[in-house]
Amino acid sequence: MRSPLLMTPGPTQIHESVRSAMAKNITNPDLDVSFFEFYKETCNKLKKLLNTKEDILILGGEGILGLEAACASLIEPEDRVLCIDNGIFGNGFGDFVKIYGGKVEYFKGDYRKAIDIEELEQFLVKDHNFKLATMVHCETPSGITNPVDKICNLLNKYNIISVVDSVSAIGGELVEVDKWGIDIILGGSQKCISASPGLTFLSISKRAWNTILNRKTPIASFYCNLALWKNWYEEKWFPYTQPISDIYGLDCAIDIILEENNYIERHRSLSEKVRNAIIKSGLELYPLDGYSNTVTTMVIPKGITFNEIYNNMLNEHNIMVAGAFDYLKDKVIRIGHMGENCHEEKIYITLKALDETLKKYGVKIDGSIHKYFAE
Ligand SMILES: *Cc1c(COP(=O)(O)O)cnc(C)c1O
Repeated sequence: MRSPLLMTPGPTQIHESVRSAMAKNITNPDLDVSFFEFYKETCNKLKKLLNTKEDILILGGEGILGLEAACASLIEPEDRVLCIDNGIFGNGFGDFVKIYGGKVEYFKGDYRKAIDIEELEQFLVKDHNFKLATMVHCETPSGITNPVDKICNLLNKYNIISVVDSVSAIGGELVEVDKWGIDIILGGSQKCISASPGLTFLSISKRAWNTILNRKTPIASFYCNLALWKNWYEEKWFPYTQPISDIYGLDCAIDIILEENNYIERHRSLSEKVRNAIIKSGLELYPLDGYSNTVTTMVIPKGITFNEIYNNMLNEHNIMVAGAFDYLKDKVIRIGHMGENCHEEKIYITLKALDETLKKYGVKIDGSIHKYFAE
């Protein structure tokens, strides 16, 4: 298999030290008490990253597992759930709610803009009888970041539990779980954290734990049952054998982020330069506001198709970029400048390859994308 420079919005490039950590010899994670201490230390590092004192769990399975586990554990049949929807992941959250019997009400935002907090406020004034609300921090397919801080603040006024999918934002954008009053936020290993795909992690507030542990009906799942994890440390027991090598990798990847201590500004400033380069080149960004700092989504210009861009960049430059799916299929390309991808040189060669590719197919560009980026 080839190993191109992965400039996709997850999975991202993995640092050599993370790969070495994954290759370490293992112990038996069910029996060895030192593994429980190690797991706890990794959770403590995630607490730093998320600015929280609440419990953290790391589960073996990628982001979707965290999202489904939150739904399975919180929702009882007939519970009213508000699904805040301005994109593919936001809308899809509702499908998981329905699997567990929740009654979904959608708050629909503009799919090219961040959630409008005033519109949401007007909606909630009229209808706020919800047990919980789901939302997506960064809509990865469209490259839009939502104001999770303001949304959660608003939900807290009405005592609505918040569940936030931050898979493509944690490790690239500021997350303040305690200050913003987030009940459950979940992330994945393979996006801005830049570890291998395979893990999800969640922070769980006291209110969320109370809700999970005081249900009237049993949780209709084993793998997605967070209640089973409540006393893992005291009991030195996990519901299933932990993917120890993946957790070695995650632990090392978080160390890299915490040691750098500048990742938020790095993502902010480099993503701004990417957007400016695209605009100056006369190309079009997909979002109209709420631009993500971790992924840039560009409308595919006339005269070239997604497959032509993808194949030329991969075959001629060994760089992989992504398209999107659903209603955005063949309409946009996405550059994931997140985690290990978010470094000047990698972005520069990606934009240079994009510039060459677009010009090869006759797309008119004023100047050069990579030169605008480097300015
Ligand atoms: C990547 C991602 C997930 C996890 O989905 P996979 O594509 O299956 O890895 C969940 N939510 C968001 C917002 C994501 O970007």
